[in-house]
Amino acid sequence: MNQFRADLHCHSTCSDGTSTPSQIIRLALDAGLQGLSITDHDTIGAYKQAIPAAEESNLPLISGVELSAIHKQKSVHILAYSFSLESLSLNAFCMRHHERRKLRSQKILALLAANGMPLTSKDFPPDFLSPDSMHSIGRPHIALAMIKKGYVNSIQQAFQYFIGEEKPCYIPGDAVSVEETLEAIHRAKGLSVIAHPHLIKDGELLKDLLAMPFDGIEGYYARFPPIAHERWLKIAKRKNWIATGGSDFHGENKPSLSLGSSWVGAETFANLLKHFEESRSSLL
Ligand code: AMP
Ligand code: FE
Ligand code: FE
Ligand code: ZN
Repeated sequence: MNQFRADLHCHSTCSDGTSTPSQIIRLALDAGLQGLSITDHDTIGAYKQAIPAAEESNLPLISGVELSAIHKQKSVHILAYSFSLESLSLNAFCMRHHERRKLRSQKILALLAANGMPLTSKDFPPDFLSPDSMHSIGRPHIALAMIKKGYVNSIQQAFQYFIGEEKPCYIPGDAVSVEETLEAIHRAKGLSVIAHPHLIKDGELLKDLLAMPFDGIEGYYARFPPIAHERWLKIAKRKNWIATGGSDFHGENKPSLSLGSSWVGAETFANLLKHFEESRSSLL
């Protein structure tokens, strides 16, 4: 029997990944994973396709999403797990993000145009910028359009010079606070987790987050070596929080991160799965 591995952090074509939800289920099976959560940015749209695909192949799947928040003008990513996918309040919360993203991408496009880099709907996949598009549009899609037009050579370059935080064409969009995000997750009977603390460089921000009512922290992340995880695992233990983990797989948009390259073991996954089953059966 192979070691139990469940990847709890990946992105599909519903946000800024390049594999469809069904392809992710296939990739998870090919990678020998025994559990999965798909955590698109601000949308749970992947589950419509992922649930039947996972059931068909007997892959245990728990609900997940990576929610964008702002704290003291800094961007924060919050993972949510094991919430009810039927929760009206969480679905409404995701719709609010959807509107925020649409408006924000228009503003970023205006800034790029003002900087001599115009983009039109033709530079995006079909229907991407249409008013009724359900796509969770993000900066990586804008970066891809910039590459297509020859304004930059890579996604990395687009972020480094133009659309990364504090760069000339960056717009955070309407601020959604960490506090209201935690409330939305908890109302949907979900568990809230500080995403990739490995990437938080601001000590004050980390301190503030650690004082908030999270349920867990992402202890294992992407290709960081085990030594980089120790600090977060210790915090989880001290606070009695769950330590989650995952690859942050985005397909071709981040080719160095393969699905299953970071994971959690059987006990953590079983707890999350149990919580998911309880959320599913509770009235909301
Ligand atoms: P958004 O959700 O629109 O704010 O875009 C954030 C996403 O862009 C992140 O989840 C990453 O997938 C990607 N991203 C952020 N910073 C970079 C970077 N420096 N290089 C490449 N991709 C990035
Ligand atoms: Fe992303
Ligand atoms: Fe993230
Ligand atoms: Zn992510």
